[in-house]
Order: sequence, then structure tokens, then C-alpha cells
Amino acid sequence: MTKVFINGEFLNQEDAKVSYEDRGYVFGDGIYEYIRAYNGKLFTVTEHFERFLRSASEIQIDLGYTVEELTDIVRQLLKINDIQNGGIYIQATRGVAPRNHSFPTPEVKPAIMAFAKSYDRPYDDFENGINAVTVEDIRWLRCDIKSLNLLGNVLAKEYAVKYNATEAIQHRDETVTEGASSNVYAIKDGEIYTHPVNNYILNGITRKVIKWVAEDDNIPFNEETFTVDFLKNADEVIVSSTSAEVTPVVKIDGEIVNDGKVGPITKKLQEGFEKYIESKSIN
Ligand SMILES: *Cc1c(COP(=O)(O)O)cnc(C)c1O
Repeated sequence: MTKVFINGEFLNQEDAKVSYEDRGYVFGDGIYEYIRAYNGKLFTVTEHFERFLRSASEIQIDLGYTVEELTDIVRQLLKINDIQNGGIYIQATRGVAPRNHSFPTPEVKPAIMAFAKSYDRPYDDFENGINAVTVEDIRWLRCDIKSLNLLGNVLAKEYAVKYNATEAIQHRDETVTEGASSNVYAIKDGEIYTHPVNNYILNGITRKVIKWVAEDDNIPFNEETFTVDFLKNADEVIVSSTSAEVTPVVKIDGEIVNDGKVGPITKKLQEGFEKYIESKSIN
């Protein structure tokens, strides 16, 4: 029986109900995280919950939980649901209140929900790469917040599906920002290029791990903007996220990248990532 965490309780799936007046439901007024477990251990969980608290604070939600308390919730969730390899989704909304755009007065308690699901690593994508399409980035200007408002991302991903691609690579004018649910990297002449961390992208934890691997392997990691044209002429292209890890892109808008093969820098990053799974996972 699947158990879901709702506001302090682990409930059976069919009892896990939320209010029609929850501001997450009505306004998308909330934030989330997606965390991986490998062999029963939580990967980079502190980094994820530090970002979760930052996202909350940026939209003025006081969660009332510490990183340690949140870690304990997901730990219990994995155990109760007997999950070894999987993903944990956790979200918080501003809470339940009569519909009114401004914050509820008096203040209400944030609503927290989390569930865990078994999930196998996408080995096929690691080995063969994925197709991507480019699409205009129509999102708001606070993409650094992992907000529940994902309409821009949803429409971008649906556009990818329509054109038989796995990811949509977004761009503002000619500048590549990020994927619908991933960060994007162009590799040229042995150096990695990726959008700098600012309000135009989500500061990925996987991006951080890739940066560590690049530093370990002395591969230059340039946090600089680049154009769609630069991306399409790159030697190798990668997308990264908690679920996609280090996934090579072998086709963009129907144009083949690196003869459709997984390149040498990508392989190095994939190998380095494996080592961090070992060293950055906790029970
Ligand atoms: C979550 C997310 C990512 C990837 O972040 P990770 O921490 O690596 O999972 C990238 N872009 C967007 C828009 C995201 O929502």
C-alpha cells in the first residue's frame, strides 16, 4: 500500500486528499523538489533541501521545517514504501485559504505533501542519447525558484513530445537558457559551457555535481551564455537533472550532434557522476 506524506502524517494513498482551497491548487502558489534515492540512500539530499528552503524563502513561505526534519520525512517515506531506487517528490504550498490573490490574513500554515516512487535509471538514454528540440523560453523572470507554476515548462515539454523529442531546449532571443526540466551544456574544443546561475535558470543540483566532476578532471567549466547556433555546432551536448543525470543529446531540431554518438567529455562526466553517487549519498 502506497503511503503519502501529508502535513505531518503518512496516509494511505486513497486517504491522501487536499483541499479545493489549497493555494497550490488555485494559484500554483508553492514550491517543490525532486530527490533521488540510490540503493536506499538519499543523493545530495542536503543540497536539495537547502534549495527547497531558499525557494520557500524567496516567495515568503516560512516552512517551519529544518533541512534535518525534511530529510527525516523522506527517509521515513522511503522506508515505509520499501523503495531502494526511486524518486521522492516533495512540495509545499502557502496553505489553505479562501481564494484571494494576496497572502492570507491571518497567516495559515503551509501545506506539505511528499510521495516516493520506484524509478530505474535511464541507462538507454545514457548510452544512446536523446533527441531535443529548441523552443522559445516564455517563462517568468524568476526561474531560479523551483515553483509549482510550470505552464511554460509543460508547454515546452509537450512541444518536444509532439516532435518526437525527449527534451525541449529553451532560449530567450538567441541565448540558450535551459531545458523544460533540465540544465543544458554545450561542449566545444574540450571545454564545457553552460548558462550562469541567475534568475533565468534553475540552479540544478546535478549541474553542481557536474561542476565538481569537471573540476576533478580539469575540464574547463565556463558559466557563460551561448547561442542556439553555438549549441547546434557544439562537439557534444548534454542535459542534466536529478532524473536524467548526465544525458547526452544526439539530435537537435533534426540535426545530428557529434555523428549521433556519445562524446568523450560526456563519458568522463558520466563516470565522474557515478563516483559522486557513492560519496554524496546518505542513509
Ligand atoms: C529541477 C529543474 C532542473 C534540474 O535541477 P536538478 O536539481 O539537477 O534536478 C533544471 N531546470 C528546471 C527548470 C528544473 O525545474
